Amino acid sequence: MLDHAPSYYLATAKELTERPPLGESLTCDVCVIGGGLTGLSSTLHLAERGYDVVLLEAQRLAWGASGRNGGQLGSGQRKDPQELAKLLGPEAAAGLWKLAEEAKDLVRGRIARHNIDCDLKPGIMHVAYKPGDVAELTEFAEDVTRNHGYDDIEVLSKAEVAERLGTEIYHGGTMDWGAAHLHPLNYALGLAKAAEDAGARLFEGTAALSVDQGQKLRIRTGRDEVTADFAVLACNGYLEKLEPRIASRIMPINNFVLATEPLGEDGARALIRDDVAVADSKFVIDYYRLSADHRLLFGGGENYRRGFPNDLKSFVRKYMLRVYPQLAQTRIDYAWGGTLAVTVNRLPDFGRLGDNIYYAQGFSGHGLALTSLAGKVIAEALAGQAERFDLMASMPTYRFPGGTLLRWPGMVLGMFYYSLRDKL
Ligand SMILES: Cc1cc2nc3c(=O)[nH]c(=O)nc-3n(C[C@H](O)[C@H](O)[C@H](O)COP(=O)(O)OP(=O)(O)OC[C@H]3O[C@@H](n4cnc5c(N)ncnc54)[C@H](O)[C@@H]3O)c2cc1C
Repeated sequence: MLDHAPSYYLATAKELTERPPLGESLTCDVCVIGGGLTGLSSTLHLAERGYDVVLLEAQRLAWGASGRNGGQLGSGQRKDPQELAKLLGPEAAAGLWKLAEEAKDLVRGRIARHNIDCDLKPGIMHVAYKPGDVAELTEFAEDVTRNHGYDDIEVLSKAEVAERLGTEIYHGGTMDWGAAHLHPLNYALGLAKAAEDAGARLFEGTAALSVDQGQKLRIRTGRDEVTADFAVLACNGYLEKLEPRIASRIMPINNFVLATEPLGEDGARALIRDDVAVADSKFVIDYYRLSADHRLLFGGGENYRRGFPNDLKSFVRKYMLRVYPQLAQTRIDYAWGGTLAVTVNRLPDFGRLGDNIYYAQGFSGHGLALTSLAGKVIAEALAGQAERFDLMASMPTYRFPGGTLLRWPGMVLGMFYYSLRDKL
């Protein structure tokens, strides 16, 4: 059987029930392709509405970014409301802020309703890596408080950040108590169980090889096929050539995380006093938090090619030591990577192909909450209430220059330029 990538999350997973591969041809109302958070949330919402849903996952459920990520349940869209207002007008920007608020509530609601044991804890601190980043963080906090009625966020001085984190490298920040962090693999596996309880059929080790369009869609998997009225494409950074019409709107990139040995409660709280998650303001973000068993889970570094660096522990450790040099002697127990999809402007790409194929992809590192919302608005749209799906789809996204073949060189150069700026 295929397995998940080795990680701290895999080592502490609660429910690793295997699902069978598709062993016969089936007919259903909706075929969901991809068993990450987008696919699982779509499946659950659709099954709850009474649709007969079949989900196909090429590997294991939540095998991709959804089971490997930093676990930060952030507020808002990937761009702040002021930027969105310039692009789409103030009304749409306000609507998108509200949808993102609903996305976080949706995750919390699912965890409570389905009793998902996934270490949910409140709070994300955003910290300024350069002095010039303080103004942007402050402006965001002031804008969402004043214009969107969000009063869960406070501005922190340099000294307050240093007092709460065991490091002096930052220049100030904000504390967002309305955001949260969690164990993403356990959250995703909890959604999978809830989807099955709602009547959906989930298959692992079953890659969709092609989708033939028509009033009835035929999803071919090799020997067997699924015939469906609708399909949801939820393959994100692993889409490859399945649907060329949307592949050039995203770029798969790799990002990396490590887990230290357990530090004991006091050792862990000496790093992050309030047990919140932290994300800095660099282009290639450092993000970190404590695990339930008092390890530091630290995400840092990216690459833009197929394959991960050979020695991932050393690769991520150097980012961690810039923040916490006091961990120089600390053992690293796990390190892993994941592939996420980014879009040109970092806004997610929602849309339809014809009348009966829906897709959501390119969450650009901000997908934990918005994938859950994606499933909800896709289910609404399929049932004939498309306003909220259309609002998400109204965010402009573009094709990478050069399409799927030539997008890499331009992207790599661009990323290299920005990561160099982080270092200056
Ligand atoms: C290291 C890392 C850290 C991150 N940290 C955060 C964070 O802290 N906060 C945050 O909000 N976001 C974060 N993200 C982003 C977040 O994880 C993603 O936005 C989110 O998980 C996307 O979910 P998804 O279901 O769309 O895609 P995925 O989870 O990637 O799922 C896609 C699935 O589709 C399957 N698939 C692909 N092709 C086929 C096919 N042909 N047939 C069948 N199945 C197929 C794949 O096997 C995969 O399981 C991070 C991502 C990474 C990689």
